[in-house]
Amino acid sequence: MQYDLIVAGSGAAGMMAAITAARSGASVLLLEKLPKIASKLKATGGGRCNLTNTLENETFMARFGRDGKFMMSALERFDHRALIAFFKELGVESHAPDGYRVFPLTHSSSTIIDAMAREMERLGIEVKCGQKVVSLEHNGSAVTGVKTEGAHYHAKCVVIATGGKGYPMLGAEGDGYVLAEATGHRVTPLYPAMMPLKTKEKWVANCRADTIAKVELRVDMKKYKNLHAKGDLIFTKEGIRGPVVLDFSREITPLLAKYDEVPLLANFTKGMNEEQVRGHFKEYVRQNPAATTLELLATLLPESLSLELCELAGCDPKLTLAKQAGSNRDRLIKLLVWTPLTVNGHDGFKMAMITRGGVHLKEIDPYTMQSRKLEGLYFCGEVMNLDGPCGGYNLQWSFASGYVAGVSAAAVSSF
Ligand SMILES: Cc1cc2nc3c(=O)[nH]c(=O)nc-3n(C[C@H](O)[C@H](O)[C@H](O)COP(=O)(O)OP(=O)(O)OC[C@H]3O[C@@H](n4cnc5c(N)ncnc54)[C@H](O)[C@@H]3O)c2cc1C
Repeated sequence: MQYDLIVAGSGAAGMMAAITAARSGASVLLLEKLPKIASKLKATGGGRCNLTNTLENETFMARFGRDGKFMMSALERFDHRALIAFFKELGVESHAPDGYRVFPLTHSSSTIIDAMAREMERLGIEVKCGQKVVSLEHNGSAVTGVKTEGAHYHAKCVVIATGGKGYPMLGAEGDGYVLAEATGHRVTPLYPAMMPLKTKEKWVANCRADTIAKVELRVDMKKYKNLHAKGDLIFTKEGIRGPVVLDFSREITPLLAKYDEVPLLANFTKGMNEEQVRGHFKEYVRQNPAATTLELLATLLPESLSLELCELAGCDPKLTLAKQAGSNRDRLIKLLVWTPLTVNGHDGFKMAMITRGGVHLKEIDPYTMQSRKLEGLYFCGEVMNLDGPCGGYNLQWSFASGYVAGVSAAAVSSF
């Protein structure tokens, strides 16, 4: 059977591409390798699905780094307002409880998936699950279809929306990179990102489950001194996690592949410098002359972390600060402002919420998402070399690029 368009992958990007193409009149086949559609979308936002955010396009693109500008044309046509309107039209209301991150009003990703599934059915999109695309068929210059493990399907256009490599149990295992490379596309180095990190320091285990607000992390390497991030951090049995770590990990994993260990400095005192810490302690001791070092530290940090920093500095937590040896006191204040942490590992793609790297952007036309190598072939979503931080960035990009790929493919296939 001949289709106008075959979409490989039923994530946010693939379903959006299928819907927009079908709305433009294209006959569409959506192939999904898992037994069900949209497994990763279901898990997003802890099941609540942080759809997008309210940032304007310039700021939004800047958060993706140097290559963010690639998204300009797609976002001009399908920004967060367009996405919110798209779901409203499908009967899904959304809101931004903190004025920034947008969720469906139900706070359930199933609402989003059900609405898209209903729309696909209404449009007559053929959805086949349990169909893994294993190769692309082409005549040398244009795509002609796909091969799955058990069948051949013919089409004028094909959209690769197979996602990245993270959380492979949710379907995306890097197949899109293999398909792209087999048809002459370059794929940049791939790194797991948005994940917890392991540290060499074992003391973190004693602070397990403590959340420290507004921690500043920076890379302690001269060449990378501009890399820093701020947000909440949680200690784990083996290292660190929490929003600041998830965001910063996309900078760290490429360095870790190069250097084996990445030294970090962490400021746990909401950005205070040494002078401010000394001033804060002086004032507290003036009002509480008998305060122990632990009581003093507890004005800034949880007790477990205070005890560990005392140990690292050689201070007795039960003594007053004045009674500590001068050099230990200085060391403690330095540690409070910049605590060394050494990242020495992670759990790889298994725990990576996104993939850093992907199909080289130079191989894709940003106005259509069409391959520059093979006519009728399109890419959208995480399979491309673009990754953003936490906060609805990656889904917005998947939906926007899916929209553009779908519209463009439908326009081509109608000739
Ligand atoms: C736990 C978790 C929570 C997240 N939360 C958020 C969040 O709240 N907000 C946010 O913006 N981002 C979030 N992300 C990131 C976001 O989910 C992804 O960036 C986004 O879903 C990528 O969409 P996609 O359509 O490109 O790929 P995917 O959603 O990964 O979809 C790809 C689909 O293709 C299928 N597939 C793969 N290979 C083949 C093949 N060979 N043949 C056929 N089908 C194939 C897969 O099974 C899968 O269904 C989260 C990620 C994870 C893992």
